[in-house]
Order: sequence, then structure tokens, then C-alpha cells
Amino acid sequence: MAEKGTKSIDPAAVEMIEKAASDGCNIVFDRAETTKPCPIGAVGSCCSNCGVGPCRVPLPKGKEETPEEKKKRKGVCGATAETIAARNFVRMIAAGAAAHGDHGRRLTEVFLAAAKGEAPGYEIKDEQKLLQLALDLGVKIGDRSNEEIAVDIGEILLSEFGRQEGELLFLRRAPLKRQELWRKQGVAPRGIDREVVETMHRTHMGVDQDYQNLLKQGVRTALSDGWGGSMIATELQDVLFGAPAPVASEINLGVLKEDEVNIIIHGHEPQLAEMLAVTTQDPEMIEYAKSKGAKGINLAGMCCTANEILMRHGVPIAGNFLQQELALVTGAVEAIVVDVQCIMQGLADVAQCYHTKVITTDDKAKIQGATHMEFDERNAAESAKTIIRAAIDNFPNRGQSVRIPSQKTDLIAGFSHETINYLLGGLFRASYRPLNDNIINGRIRGVAGVVGCNNPRVTHDDAHLIMIKELIKNDVLVLSTGCSAMAAAKAGLMIPEAAAEYAGEGLASVCEAVGIPPVLHMGSCVDNSRILIAATAMVKEGGLGDDISDLPVAGAAPEWMSEKAISIGQYFVGSGVFTVFGVTWPTLGSKDVTDFLFKDFEDMYGGMWAFEPDPIKAAQLMIEHIDKKRKALGIDKARERVLYDMEMRRELEAV
Ligand code: SF4
Ligand code: SF4
Repeated sequence: MAEKGTKSIDPAAVEMIEKAASDGCNIVFDRAETTKPCPIGAVGSCCSNCGVGPCRVPLPKGKEETPEEKKKRKGVCGATAETIAARNFVRMIAAGAAAHGDHGRRLTEVFLAAAKGEAPGYEIKDEQKLLQLALDLGVKIGDRSNEEIAVDIGEILLSEFGRQEGELLFLRRAPLKRQELWRKQGVAPRGIDREVVETMHRTHMGVDQDYQNLLKQGVRTALSDGWGGSMIATELQDVLFGAPAPVASEINLGVLKEDEVNIIIHGHEPQLAEMLAVTTQDPEMIEYAKSKGAKGINLAGMCCTANEILMRHGVPIAGNFLQQELALVTGAVEAIVVDVQCIMQGLADVAQCYHTKVITTDDKAKIQGATHMEFDERNAAESAKTIIRAAIDNFPNRGQSVRIPSQKTDLIAGFSHETINYLLGGLFRASYRPLNDNIINGRIRGVAGVVGCNNPRVTHDDAHLIMIKELIKNDVLVLSTGCSAMAAAKAGLMIPEAAAEYAGEGLASVCEAVGIPPVLHMGSCVDNSRILIAATAMVKEGGLGDDISDLPVAGAAPEWMSEKAISIGQYFVGSGVFTVFGVTWPTLGSKDVTDFLFKDFEDMYGGMWAFEPDPIKAAQLMIEHIDKKRKALGIDKARERVLYDMEMRRELEAV
């Protein structure tokens, strides 16, 4: 692991951190040094849910809390440390689920407008996925046009947000045993908005004061994200913009260009980014850029918007969460165009040190000091042109302090569930059979989802890379999304050649036979729902049990920071996946709550949480869990038997 105090292991980031210091520009890494986390709040022991508080419940003195100590650890209203920790935790889930849900809703509205011909520039790109969705939702196909089918799909899915009774429709996609378990535990979500609202109600002063009951509602709310808001967003984005397929591109600050107008698109929703990707190629815009002295227009992404347009257009990525300010420090960014989520307010201050225009585009997410240009999907092309012109007009204002790091790395992205299916099984026999077979015969030990953010409390990218390398070395295939995927890509783990260099012999042999990297980029944070679908496909393929909790799989977010990450982790746990987080754990102020999440959840949901800030130890926990599942499936011996004779190699090549 990097030495304590190391800010980043990415040389491009380190170079820009040093440049910011010499330019006298205060950035996130400086603020992380001057603003330390409150030790009571960090472990979930501070309640500010009413005007009597904040009530800071003192931390237990020793490891084992005495009953006397426990009695004293209460807020003014009598709320126990357990209630307070559980309330804080499920509020994080509600905020994360709300963010993904609102993203899904906005996308559904754009989808409907496009289907009705009210959003010129957007159209149904993936007919096959549209028809599959129609079959899943019981929408009549017949001889109806794609647009008519899409209107029905859009209306059905829009009503999932406000649904008051019954169950979310996409729950039916889960293995039958999982659906039954959700019903038995009483956590099958009714409506996406309803679960968030109910969580906010229950956590109001004086409502739900039973930590186990609160955590149950947390599971229901998180499931409404993974199998609701996020899944709707992913599905409709694929239909509207095309399901991702393998695409080559580059990543890191070196993708910025000294002689072109650099525009960074940052945030989460793809509709604006899609339009910018097209409009920056418009000859009229390129001519305009030339008239201002630039050679062209260079669009690059940041955070999850970047993943969206990378997966579908191969647009290069400038960096992950902790690089957003560093991109401006290059002095070469004319505009950073943002929509929603993970956008640091500090961008506005950093922009003052250079010439960058920070352009907000969504009424929900304005920043003081930024320029607001509302993006109107019903007039998308014109909105995109206005934004691009503003960036071009800023090119002549570039100062002298321009330095673009040289680092950029090749990557292959675009591993949607459909792509994995096709790559493994072939166009005419698309299936997960080869994956399951290679897990059963032990060439692949298991599958891990490594996802999530960066967090300036730990060395940028370090934990992601250590964990991922440890997993693939031990023959665990890694599926990655969000800023974690970007960390892996920057380190060269997302090219097929990485298999020979970093993966264990079994995993490497499969990757080489199929031609895939050992770490597969599955997209943005809402695309974690693709991992749920992939896990379900593995169950349905047969041979690995009859529920997601039977699979030799595990999940992790080693550098998490976002409430969305907590919601994602909780829906994986609630779907039966062992999930380990690093950095810090927000319920450590209550042993009972933590034990409930880490131990009792396994009996209830087949999946449970763990906290381990050391990424090697965390990877080992994941591998132990995978081995435990292999043993339960009776396939643990298979790993020991793997001897690569000629016949097996021929068999692999035939995959
Ligand atoms: S709800 Fe209770 S614990 Fe929370 S701030 Fe109010 S009095 Fe304190
Ligand atoms: S992984 Fe985390 S930091 Fe990165 S875009 Fe997603 S939520 Fe934001």
C-alpha cells in the first residue's frame, strides 16, 4: 500500500496536485487536510434529526460496552445509540436511492418524449432491447411501430416511481427463490418514491425506534434502487442510446489537447453528454473553434457521465472523482459542463485560478459562481450548441499556466450483460454457459464486482488497484463500474494483454481464449444493475445453485464516499451478495447495529456487509467467501484438479 499521507498513486494526479500548489490554488486534497472528519459523526453516533440536537452520543470506552455504559449512550429524547446509527444509515440509503431514482425518472421522461416525437435528436437506437423490454413488461408488440411500443414501456416504467401497492415489476427478473425470500422478509419494494419517503418518515424524530425494523426498511429502499430506479435508467439508456458493445478508448488527463478547445462533461446523466458527443463533431462548430485559434474541439468525460459516453461512443475519459479539480489545474479546460451528482462545489473556486467556465445545466444542481445554461431535451441540439459556443469563446482566454500531464492509457470498455453473453456464447448461442462451466471446473474461482468512488481520506486509486490485482491474481474475474473502473483502466488492467501480466493461470487462460481483459468495464454507477442481471443470468444458466446467494461471487467498494454507494452496497447485500467496504464504516458507533448488518443479515438475506480498510485483507475476505460458496456447491475440489493438459487447452480454444 502507498505510504500514509500519499495523496495519489496516479502520476498525472500527483503532477497536477504539485502544479496546484505552485499556482497557489486550493484543491480537495488541501481541504481534506484542514477539515478532519468528526469522530462521532463518522461512526453514525450524532443525531441532528430535530432541533433539540445535535445529540452526540459518546463513543464506547472499550471494545465491550457494559450495560451501564449502554444506558448512558442516548440522545435527549432517549433515542439509543442503536436507533441513531440505524437512522443515519438508512437515511444514507434513502439519499442514494433518491439520486438514482431521480436519474431514472428524468431518463424515463426523455425516453417518453423521444417516443412521442417531442425530443428531436433522440430516437430508439436499440430495437432488440426495446422488444425484449416489451416482452418482459407484457407490452403488445404485433405490428406496432417501435415508437408506439416505447410509449407503452415509458408509461409503465414511469408509474413505477409513484406506485403505491404491490411490487416493482423488475423484481420478477430476479431468481424465483430470491423473490420468495424478499416476500418472506417483507422487503419487496412497493414503489420507488414510496420507499424513500417512508424511510424519511420513519427516521423523523419519534417514529421508528427499533434498529432492526429500520434496517429492514433500509433493505427495501435499497432494492427499490437496484431493481427499480437504477435498472430503469440502465435499460432505457440502452434502448435510447444503444446497449454498449466493446469499444477502445483512452483514459487520464493526457487525453486533454493543448491546441484544441477542451470541454469536460461531468456528472451522471447521459442525455446531454450524448448530444455534446454528436454536436462537437458538427463542422459548423469545428469551424467556429478554428475561427478562435483552436485546431478543433476535444470532448472528454469525468465520473459517470464519462462512463456513459465512453461505453457508447469511445469518448476518452479525463479522470475519476478526485481528478475533477485537477483537470482544471491543467489550465487547458475551456469549460466543465456538469449535470447532477458528485460535482464538487470546489470546482467554482478552482476555476477562478484559471480561465475555465463551470457550466451547470440542470435546474436541480446549480452552483454559486458558475454559469447556468439549462439543458432542454426538447431542443437538445440547440442547447448543446449554445454550451459548446460558450466553451469555444473561452479558448482565447487561456492563460500562460498550461501543463497537460502526458499520462493516458488504452482501455477496452462496453461490457454490458448482452456483450458478455455474446462474447462467451457467440451470436447464435449467446449464453453464460462457458462462464458457469469455467467456474465449475475451477479455471475461474469466482466473480467480484469492484465498484464505487474515490475518497480523499485514503490514497487516490490505491485501494482499488491493490484489491483488483489481488483478486485477478487469484483467478477471480472482476466486473467494475464507476470511478473504480476508471482507476483500473488508468493502470492498464482493462486491455486483454493485462490477463497474461496480472491474472492467475486459470483466469488468464479463459481471458486469452475469449479475448477479454481480466477486469470488465460494465459502465456507470446506475449500471451496477447490470451486475445484478449478470448474476441472475449465472443462476438461470444452471450448475451454480438456485439463488444469487449461492454463487461464488462478492462485491466491494474500497474507496467509497457517496450515499449512493451505501444504497448500492445494500441492494447487493439484500440480493444475496457478500459486500465489503473500505475507508470507514458509518455504524461503528453501535456494535449491535454493526453486528446485525455484518452477521445476522447473512441468515436473513444470504448476503452481508463487512468493513475492511486494508484492500489485501478485504480481497482475502472476498476470496474466502467465494471459496465458502464453492464448497457449498461441491465444486471446491475442481480447483485442485485443474491441470492444463492438451485436451483442456483445445477445449478452451473452442469456447
Ligand atoms: S431526535 Fe432525539 S437524538 Fe435526535 S437530535 Fe432530536 S432529541 Fe437528539
Ligand atoms: S463512483 Fe462514486 S464518485 Fe464516482 S461517479 Fe459514482 S458515485 Fe460519484
